[in-house]
Amino acid sequence: MIVPLVGIKPVQAAGFTDVPSRALKEVNYLAEGKIVNGTSATSFTPYKTITRSEAAVFIGRTLQLDGTPRSTGFTDLGSGSFTSGYVQAVVEKGIMSGYDGKKFLPYKAVTRGEMAGILAKAFGYSSNAEKALMDLGIASGLPDGTFGSNQTITRADFAVFLARSIHPEFRLKSLGGFTSKLRSTTGNLNVRSGPSTSFASLGKIAANTEVAGAHSIGGWTYVKTGNKVGFISASYLRSEGTDVTTPPVTENNDAQLSGQTIILDPGHGGTDSGAVGNGLKEKDVVLKMGLQVNDLLKQTPFNVKMTRSTDTFIPLKTRSTFAKNNGGDIFVSIHVNAASASASGTETYYYAAGNPYVADSQLLAAKIQARMLAAWDLKDRGVKPGDLSVLRENNMPAALAELGFISNAGDAAKMKSDYSMKVMSNAIYYGILDYYKEKGYNVDSLYKVAE
Ligand SMILES: [Zn+2]
Repeated sequence: MIVPLVGIKPVQAAGFTDVPSRALKEVNYLAEGKIVNGTSATSFTPYKTITRSEAAVFIGRTLQLDGTPRSTGFTDLGSGSFTSGYVQAVVEKGIMSGYDGKKFLPYKAVTRGEMAGILAKAFGYSSNAEKALMDLGIASGLPDGTFGSNQTITRADFAVFLARSIHPEFRLKSLGGFTSKLRSTTGNLNVRSGPSTSFASLGKIAANTEVAGAHSIGGWTYVKTGNKVGFISASYLRSEGTDVTTPPVTENNDAQLSGQTIILDPGHGGTDSGAVGNGLKEKDVVLKMGLQVNDLLKQTPFNVKMTRSTDTFIPLKTRSTFAKNNGGDIFVSIHVNAASASASGTETYYYAAGNPYVADSQLLAAKIQARMLAAWDLKDRGVKPGDLSVLRENNMPAALAELGFISNAGDAAKMKSDYSMKVMSNAIYYGILDYYKEKGYNVDSLYKVAE
């Protein structure tokens, strides 16, 4: 039986009587997902300019951030305000920020330029936010040829831009982009019309079904499988790499690579030794490793930044903030494990919720893990979701590599050997290249850097 492609189900009208037809399906879609709400049961108040706190609430709900009202650190937004939780959550994620660190100006109108910046940070578009929105078919310029950055926008317009960011079927152009090869890890798995359980199920897929993944939003991945296009919770998907039929990006290659910032994060440091064992300290092993990977990346067009390059203590939050402030495109944290003397092996973590790049984080982790296993030939402890601060608090593809166990004599021997350390730094470098290769970047000529 041939079944037509099912995307967005016609959604139940939310009951608003004041929404103009040009924004109706988008507002109804977001209302179904409990992302937007009206000002009353029948009014959306579409022509009112959207305020900063309203935008924070809509974005926070889209990403399923914690909206529990709480203190914000801003003098003009107390925990008594229902928006305080979402404001604090989007500020912590680096999606919005206050003024002079003191005020949030919750009732200030959002401009088109601000809107572009907010959407770009929330959904991981390039730092040239206005261009990114136009390239993706989320926004178009104004008739006068400008983006109209200083113009305020209405609640209806914001809803339209938000719906387009979430679901490509609302966009002004079709981009495809289902480049990740994924497989379902459980049966009876719902494919939903949006990135939360509030959205309707378009049908279910069986365990071990192949799906093609595009972007992720709040721990849900936009996928195509069989005749369905929709969202699946990323925690039930595992990565199998990238569709090789996707044409590689070849134009302007060096410029594309130099536009990518790789953040290397050697764990611990200073007063925090990390794990210790066999005469070694984790902070020293991972710093040496990080510096070696940095040396390799420095020989490529990639931009590379280290959270620390000396023996200093850096709090966890500072590491993800550093990554965001430096415009990081991927984040690679380097650690070693400790447990009983018999525990051994290599594992890599990614975070399966919170970070909008679940599929890419998983892909990055899988690529690094595969290369690390080939390098040291230790036990394969797998690629695992892990609720680790530097992964959770980041808003870019992020992975945390555990090279081996410092508490195991065999693993520690590798860490003591300059030769083995060199082989491992090459492996992490290759893993990063493998990731970019699968994302369509032309990195073939860079492998020889480490040979
Ligand atoms: Zn560690």
